[in-house]
Amino acid sequence: MKALPWKSKPGQPLVVAGPCSAESESQVVETALALAASGRVVAFRAGVWKPRSRPGSFEGIGISALPWLVAAREASGLPVMTEVANAQHVEACLKAGLDALWIGARTTVNPFYVQEIAEALRGVNIPVWVKNPIHSDLGLWIGALERLDAVGIGSVAAVHRGFYADRPEPFRNEPKWELSFALRSRVPDVPIVCDPSHIAGKRSLVEQVARTALDLQLDGLMVESHTNPDKALSDAAQQLTPDALNALLEGLDVRRGTPEDAEALRVLSELRSTLDGLDSELVHLLQARMDLVAAIGHLKAKHGMTVFQLDRFRHIFQARGEEAAALGVHPSLIDELFQVVHKYSVQKQIEVRHQAPLWGDAALPAAKQ
Ligand code: PEP
Ligand code: MN
Repeated sequence: MKALPWKSKPGQPLVVAGPCSAESESQVVETALALAASGRVVAFRAGVWKPRSRPGSFEGIGISALPWLVAAREASGLPVMTEVANAQHVEACLKAGLDALWIGARTTVNPFYVQEIAEALRGVNIPVWVKNPIHSDLGLWIGALERLDAVGIGSVAAVHRGFYADRPEPFRNEPKWELSFALRSRVPDVPIVCDPSHIAGKRSLVEQVARTALDLQLDGLMVESHTNPDKALSDAAQQLTPDALNALLEGLDVRRGTPEDAEALRVLSELRSTLDGLDSELVHLLQARMDLVAAIGHLKAKHGMTVFQLDRFRHIFQARGEEAAALGVHPSLIDELFQVVHKYSVQKQIEVRHQAPLWGDAALPAAKQ
């Protein structure tokens, strides 16, 4: 995996922190000093240009806040980063001498903007982090990383900040952790940092999200911190004071992928081999189920029946849901699983229907042993 631009102390997660927005020079410098004093923060973040969904709210100080970030670095020793959304932002940040940049969620969605930013960075070696796009489109996220790679940015990282939620409860942005697994699997070289502040949306949930991110082997955290969160000009509900952030970080530990204890490793591989056996049985069961589905499909085709049957559809979900409840299996696991099973079963019977006149009764698949 590519290295992140900064290193944490052994046993501690890598943490970048700072206010959502730079509001004044004293706020920026004081926050950076307090965060540096904790010894747990490796870089300082502050937004200078703030993309807001609706006009009229605080849209950031703009270019004149860049020297405040430089002053914060001089005072605290922490490298500083901010969000860029176009070529002018990039040029201003490079001129001011910032250490790293990030592309925000509302910019990652648009390949034109990302390409413009990438072009402005051609030949410049500065770390750039890419937040996930607002909606769960992995292609846009990976595409932005590729555009930066193509202009020679050697140090990129992905920032997982959650995805637009229709109902912003309990989290402001849905974590959809499975997308971080998919990203990891598609681009294993790219470090993934979690932004628990924008996922949580409220102070009380930041710790839980940060802990989950580390349990899921994410490589670091970007957390919002403000000296007076209730008075923050943006994202007031989710920011933590530097002291609260420090207390939260004290309680976190970096998890490892493999246990050091040999006995634990032995038990783990035994349990995994049993699990593999069960998974293999599941695949065989699904294969047998599909054979039956095909046989039923032939019957329906021959007797002029529709493939979809509402009563049957309802029965599958009701009966399996009741079994799941009785066995203490999460109802959504069974519901989602049978949605997929049913979808492929319908597809199979549609295929059967269109081939039925050719196959006739003789082609009914025999049950396999
Ligand atoms: C931010 O980091 O303050 C920000 C605007 O984040 P996002 O792009 O994730 O909404
Ligand atoms: Mn914010």
